[in-house]
Amino acid sequence: MRSPFAAAHGTTEERRGVIVQILDSDGRRGVGEASPLPSFFGGTHADVLAFLERYGASLLTDVSPLTGPGSMALRCALDVAALDLEAQQAGTSVAALLSPDALDRVPVNAVIGDGPPDEIAQIGVEATSRGYRVLKLKVGTGTLAEDLERVRALRAACPRASIHLDANGAWDEATAIDAVIQLDPLGIGLIEQPVPAADVEALARVHARSTILLGADEAMADPVSRERVLALGAAYCVILKPMVLGGLRPALEIGRRATSQGMRAIVTTTFDSSIGTATSLALACALPHGPSHGLATGEHLAGDVVTHTLVPELGVMVRPAMPGLGVAVDEAALERVATAPWSERAL
Ligand SMILES: [Mg+2]
Repeated sequence: MRSPFAAAHGTTEERRGVIVQILDSDGRRGVGEASPLPSFFGGTHADVLAFLERYGASLLTDVSPLTGPGSMALRCALDVAALDLEAQQAGTSVAALLSPDALDRVPVNAVIGDGPPDEIAQIGVEATSRGYRVLKLKVGTGTLAEDLERVRALRAACPRASIHLDANGAWDEATAIDAVIQLDPLGIGLIEQPVPAADVEALARVHARSTILLGADEAMADPVSRERVLALGAAYCVILKPMVLGGLRPALEIGRRATSQGMRAIVTTTFDSSIGTATSLALACALPHGPSHGLATGEHLAGDVVTHTLVPELGVMVRPAMPGLGVAVDEAALERVATAPWSERAL
C-alpha cells in the first residue's frame, strides 16, 4: 500500500497474494488472482500456496477440496483464470461471456480510510477535483461523535459529493440507529454494514427504520447470513467481492438473485492488483446498472503486476478493450513485487 489504510476491522499496510495462470496448448494464458484479505475472514497467501501445493492441477477440474481460510480467494483465481482463457479463445471479454448485455463502463467511488477530519476533507476535495462524484469514507474506528466530526468535515469540504459510509460492522444496533438519526442531516447516500455481519436480523431492523440506505457487505461472506440477507431483504443493496465469494460465477449468481428481488448490487475489490480489479470490474459490468462501485483501489497500491494499473478516469472505470479479462501479467512489473518464482504443474 502507498500508505496504511485504516478501517474498523483493522489497518491494511500491505497486500499479499498469489497469481495463478492457466496455459492452453496454443500458448494463451488465463490469469487470476488469489489475494485473501486476512481482516475479512480470508486467510492468507500462505493458505493459498498450501492448497496449490497439496492439490495442484487437479483443482482445474475439481475445487471441492477448497474449504476454510484462503479457499474463496483461490476459487476466485481459478474461476477467473478459466474464464479469461475461455473468453480469449472465443475472442470476447469475460464481462460479455458473463452477460451479453454487459456494460462497457461503470461509475466508481473514491475510498477514504480513517484519519483526522482535516485530512479526510483534503482527500475528499482532491478526489472530487479528479472527477469523483461519490466519496466512500470508512467509519466505526472510534466513537460515533468522532465519526460525526469527520463526516461533517467531509460534507463541508465537498458540498455536492454523494457521501457513502462503511462501518464494517463496528456498531451495535442502538449505535447504528443513533448514527442514522445524527447522520441524516448530512445527506448520506449509503451506509455499508452498520452492524456486525452475523446479526442479519439487526441489519433488517435498522434497515426498516433507517432514513439512509443501507448495504450488506460482510454479511454476504458467510453462506448462512447471506441467505438471511436475501430472505429478509435486510438492506437496500448487497456488496459483492469476487475474492470473498469464490469467483465471478458465484458472485454473479448472488448478484442476480439480489437484483431480481429488487435489491441493488455494488461490486468492490479487496485492494487487489489490477488482475483483481479487472475481475471486479467484469462483474460490475455484467450486473444491471447500479450505484457506484468500489473499484478505485489501484491508486492506493504502491506496486502492481501489470504495466498500467487499472484506475478510473473522472470517476468512471472503463473495461479494457483486450479480449478476456483485459489485463495480463507484465513480467518486469511482477518482478518488482514478487516474493517467489513461478511454480509450474502439468495436467
Ligand atoms: Mg464494505
